[in-house]
Amino acid sequence: MAKYIFITGGVISSLGKGIATASIAKILESAGFRVSLIKFDPYLNVDPGTMNPYQHGEVYVTHDGAETDLDLGHYERFTNARLGRINNVTTGQIYSTVLARERKGDYLGKTIQVIPHITNEIKDRIKAVAKETKAEIILMEVGGTVGDIESLPFLEAARQFGLEEGRANALYIHLTLVPYIRAADEIKTKPTQHSVGTLREIGIQPDILLCRTEKPLNDEVKSKISLFCNVPQNAVIEALDVSSIYEIPLIFKNQGLDKIILKHFGLKARHSDLNHWQEKVVDKVLYPKHKTTIAVVGKYIELQDAYKSIYEALRHGGIANDCLVEIKKIDSETIELEGPQKMLSGVSGVLVPGGFGYRGIEGKIKAIQYARENNLPFFGICLGMQCAAIEFARNCLKIKRANSTEFVKHTKEPVISLLEEQRKIKQMGATMRLGEYPCRLLKGTLAYQAYGKADIYERHRHRYEFNNRYRGALVKKGMVFSGIYPKKNLVEILELKGHPWFVGVQFHPEFQSKPNKAHPLFAEFIKASMLFAARRGP
Ligand code: GLN
Repeated sequence: MAKYIFITGGVISSLGKGIATASIAKILESAGFRVSLIKFDPYLNVDPGTMNPYQHGEVYVTHDGAETDLDLGHYERFTNARLGRINNVTTGQIYSTVLARERKGDYLGKTIQVIPHITNEIKDRIKAVAKETKAEIILMEVGGTVGDIESLPFLEAARQFGLEEGRANALYIHLTLVPYIRAADEIKTKPTQHSVGTLREIGIQPDILLCRTEKPLNDEVKSKISLFCNVPQNAVIEALDVSSIYEIPLIFKNQGLDKIILKHFGLKARHSDLNHWQEKVVDKVLYPKHKTTIAVVGKYIELQDAYKSIYEALRHGGIANDCLVEIKKIDSETIELEGPQKMLSGVSGVLVPGGFGYRGIEGKIKAIQYARENNLPFFGICLGMQCAAIEFARNCLKIKRANSTEFVKHTKEPVISLLEEQRKIKQMGATMRLGEYPCRLLKGTLAYQAYGKADIYERHRHRYEFNNRYRGALVKKGMVFSGIYPKKNLVEILELKGHPWFVGVQFHPEFQSKPNKAHPLFAEFIKASMLFAARRGP
């Protein structure tokens, strides 16, 4: 029988609940338990796939093609859990299911209500994950902050779940903020007391508190929190600000969080090994030998979360090379205004990430041209790869009007265009090429060298494809199509002959990178950028 952990957040959002959840999963996994995770998102969208990055940040894609919350990215980066569609549950999904059932008449004349019908559906989803994954411990993060109206049904379901499964099989962890007030030189526990109070009003007594703080909490503060929140003092865990998110599992473990959780469940650690994580991840992040600077040229640069997995994968590439990766975030529209030279002359690699729509495209194309002409390592991802194809067609084949039909619908030179099957689709949600597809690599290419094998699987999220009509002409001028989706003969990877490292991929390798297992293309890209910097000299 599985054990269940519910993780809620209090006081304010952005306390790092996703990373805390991933870190707890990590320490339990390292104690020898099979874990799975669920993110509950209280919004009405069925999935975040239709949301603007300004609303939501990155859309994370699972192997089975679900468009999910970016917290699933943290979960997969920290643990070995393989997550899919069932691991992200939104209010939109819950209501769609319940309403479809109501229309079918499955409720046999009953009035359909939030309690019990919505809460039952939430609980059924939890049980479905337990059944399907056979995980021993399931961690569930409830999105939003305690006190929000929209997350109430999830919290009510969490409360009922503990009652029905038995309190010994369910555990409640609350992440809260313990602010330091500079003017008074004091740490304040009142917001935590209030937020735990709100949780108790709806019937949930937290077992453990994770206290996010910028100053260490002394025993006096911990005992006050313990007393007022009715949580044993050893279960008041300090979550001090750290320089790398990958330190957090260690910080939790050092305070005995794994032991407290396992004791609650009556479980014994089978082994306990975070040394590898300490040595191969955290120490490499904190004390790197080398340094390189990579420009990420995108359109949502001012948002922290829009390219989350890309930024993390770059850091992983750094870890693999004992190298600190400094990321220079560049708005592609500034490159349109200022030119690439000024913005890119100091960097040792350029990455153009995925995206949608025409805004900023010309700046990305200029950046790619600059990287190509200056032997600067270039990594294009999804839209970035499409832009690389357009740039090459425009500047090396003199097809001046080369474009994507995404930007100019009836362009005369559709180097990037829709497949027939995509053209027929009218609905927006979940209709892109999504999830894992196989790709066959060509021997003797950078891609083959990176992966070290011919057959790979990568995750996709796009509508448009490279137009095979242009393949021959581009090959003649030195482009190499090093990865192909064999079944449909679609271009998945392009490279350039004679350039030290120029790789564009139609898929999203960043979703499969982990701190202790960097994605091979990111590792090679960082290595190439270090070589570039060494050649250029100080
Ligand atoms: N907009 C492009 C497409 O739909 C690229 C998508 C992406 O970069 N994720 O094909």
